[in-house]
Formats: sequence, structure tokens, C-alpha cells
Amino acid sequence: MEIDLPFGVQEWAPIEDDPNRYKQWVSLTQPCLVSKRTMSDPHHVTSRGAGGGERDNIVPLQRVFHSELHNIGRDSFAIKYGLDLRREAIRITNEYDEGHI
Ligand SMILES: [Zn+2]
Repeated sequence: MEIDLPFGVQEWAPIEDDPNRYKQWVSLTQPCLVSKRTMSDPHHVTSRGAGGGERDNIVPLQRVFHSELHNIGRDSFAIKYGLDLRREAIRITNEYDEGHI
């Protein structure tokens, strides 16, 4: 059965149905792990080339920090900023699930 939503109302789909929607949600709503600002450029903890998807696998970083991560390497980046990127990715997916079930 299809439900008509009023124009402009977003219906959240499960992550598996629309990975881009989850990535957009992270980018728009989740603060950068370093600067705490939104409008981030999400980073894949396990790269897509290595088989990483979106769920439990992306973290919000502003572009400048995202670039730094790739320049210095994820281990150095994690130590420099005291971050556990995998744990943050899982925490964010849990927040999404709580808000969109
Ligand atoms: Zn990245």
C-alpha cells in the first residue's frame, strides 16, 4: 500500500534501501567529530573499495579534517584527536535507528 505524504515531508527509508539518505542524514545532522560543526563530508571507516558500506561505517568530518585523516593516516589521526572512529560510526548508526524506526 502506498501512503501519500504531504509535499515536502520526508519519509525515512531503512539504510539498506537508500544508503545516500543515511549519508545525507549524517552530513546534515551529525557534528564533525573534531570541530563539532555540521555540514560534514562523511568518511568511510572501512573504505568502499575494501567492501565498507554505510551502516556502522561512516563518521562526520569537515572536509579539512577529512583531508587531514587521509594525509596522515587514520591511526595517526585517531591518536591526534583521541577518536575511536569505528565506535563513533556505530554510535551514529544507533542514533539513526532510534530516530527512524
Ligand atoms: Zn575518507
